[in-house]
Amino acid sequence: MVEERLEVMLSAEEIGKRVREMASKISADYKGRKPLLIGVLKGAVIFLSDLIRSLDIPVEIDFMAVSSYGADTASSGVVRIQKDLDRSIKDKDVLIIEDIVDTGLTLSYLKENLSSRQPKTLKVATLLDKPERREVVFDPDYCGFTIPDRFVIGYGLDYNEDYRQLADLCILKA
Ligand code: 5GP
Repeated sequence: MVEERLEVMLSAEEIGKRVREMASKISADYKGRKPLLIGVLKGAVIFLSDLIRSLDIPVEIDFMAVSSYGADTASSGVVRIQKDLDRSIKDKDVLIIEDIVDTGLTLSYLKENLSSRQPKTLKVATLLDKPERREVVFDPDYCGFTIPDRFVIGYGLDYNEDYRQLADLCILKA
């Protein structure tokens, strides 16, 4: 049951359908290759795990953790690597898997950092995009949904580490 403070923005069914569409596009684009998918912890974990099970190409996965909002809902603008990759990405087809692009600061930093490690290709797939809050120019290569400027939780996204387990993507009302 959904609590009173939560309003569903995208249902589990809508998300599932869109993730499968993204998976077929990614499978077609990377046909004959074995990309390395890098999940950005922790918010992208559910998206990554649903996405890879709908792909029909082989993949490798790895994870990075970068500093995010912490207990606040406003961006600090500071990006720090808290957990780095286990292996080199040199000459690999790399696809970053992110939950949401907001100001764009996190992914701009990550893309720049990872491109200096000389991957063969480097692209970004995000489930959600909130373009209204962009502070730097950033266009994801694959995007599930463009959403309005609301703070969302569920499907892996948290507020203060709560709500990640919700199957729907919800707006947390004040
Ligand atoms: P950016 O650097 O693009 O501002 O922020 C990206 C990160 O901010 C995301 O990976 C996510 O952790 C966090 N974030 C941005 N908007 C939201 C939101 O609406 N809900 C939640 N839970 N996290 C968000």
